[in-house]
Amino acid sequence: MIYLDNSATTPVLQEAADCAMEVMTQDYFNPSSLYAQASKLEKRIKTAREFFAKSLRSRPEEIVFTSGATESNNIAIFGTLNALRASKYRFITTKIEHPAVYEPFWALEQRGHEVIYLSVDENGKIDLAELASLIDEHTALVSIMQVNNEVGTIQDISSIGKTIKQKNPQCLFHSDGVQGFGKCDFDAAVVDLYSISGHKFHAPKGVGLLMMRNSAKNMGGQMGGGQERNLRSGTLNAPGILAMAVAAEKMAESDKKNMLTCKKTLYQDLCKISDVYLNGPDIEEGAPQILNLSFMGLRGEVLLHALEARGVLVSTGSACASHKKGDNRVLNTFGYNADRIEGAIRFSFGRQNKPEEMHQVAEIIEEEVKKLRRFKRR
Ligand code: PLP
Repeated sequence: MIYLDNSATTPVLQEAADCAMEVMTQDYFNPSSLYAQASKLEKRIKTAREFFAKSLRSRPEEIVFTSGATESNNIAIFGTLNALRASKYRFITTKIEHPAVYEPFWALEQRGHEVIYLSVDENGKIDLAELASLIDEHTALVSIMQVNNEVGTIQDISSIGKTIKQKNPQCLFHSDGVQGFGKCDFDAAVVDLYSISGHKFHAPKGVGLLMMRNSAKNMGGQMGGGQERNLRSGTLNAPGILAMAVAAEKMAESDKKNMLTCKKTLYQDLCKISDVYLNGPDIEEGAPQILNLSFMGLRGEVLLHALEARGVLVSTGSACASHKKGDNRVLNTFGYNADRIEGAIRFSFGRQNKPEEMHQVAEIIEEEVKKLRRFKRR
């Protein structure tokens, strides 16, 4: 099997799995308990917290461990909303956010707030001047993802952050960093809130964090035992948190290079097939781990299953549930026609992928595309 769906989830690194296993079976204490064993575990969590704080240019107390990025995004948005006083605010986001941001904003609209969804250009980038023109004194929060999960567009987070604060220093800036953390360099100092998810970088599922600056007013998520400074109650997922820190520590520059080489190798081979289009940014401009291509005249889902039968796992990139022709919110925003949207496949790479395998994948794809197109023309 060749797994090329690493933006959906990644295999857990052996060292991270070993760490989780050790904590689950040996150091299984509740870190909030009062005896020495629990305090020792609490100290290990403190070290992990310090590590993430340092990598996100923040303070340890600004790291809130969560169950993943869906929860982090929900706390960033609803927690901010719940800390506001007036009945109507302006919120700004983009048309290409992951549902974990898009849906909460939709809910805010239903509650009578004004939500503006920014369009993007042909590369998936927002227009900074447009953003600046929309921020007023009633704008409470801007949420713009660092890297788009379907096509790999990298937003200029530093410029966005500066633009927001120039227009309204009180306005908070949240970025969903799920696909960007460890993959793209950025200046974390410009964000007030930043979400990450462990299972996207070879840690287990069900663990993530929200970096939330002390200056950002936020009521937090669930209530209960008061863990995480009362911002996210619930017994800490110690095995997950410590495994996530191990996986993050193991991230290396060489992983990014490896993913980019896989992406370029596969693209160079696949663009020799007729009627194949690159969706989103140019190869070098986009995130190293995401390649989105349309195979015209085919349904992405049909190609996906043909590849599955040959041991290659990919995604259509579509997070929508309806599966109607051309019904993909993100690709629609790019203005692509229905055939292009329908024929889209997302390849996403991880540290375990090998560039040499990409020629083999490309050969399989070429054969399957030829077969399916022949079949379709009959
Ligand atoms: N945001 C983005 C950009 C994602 O790609 C994902 C997962 O696909 C999420 C949020 C949700 O993350 P989690 O699975 O940790 O809830």
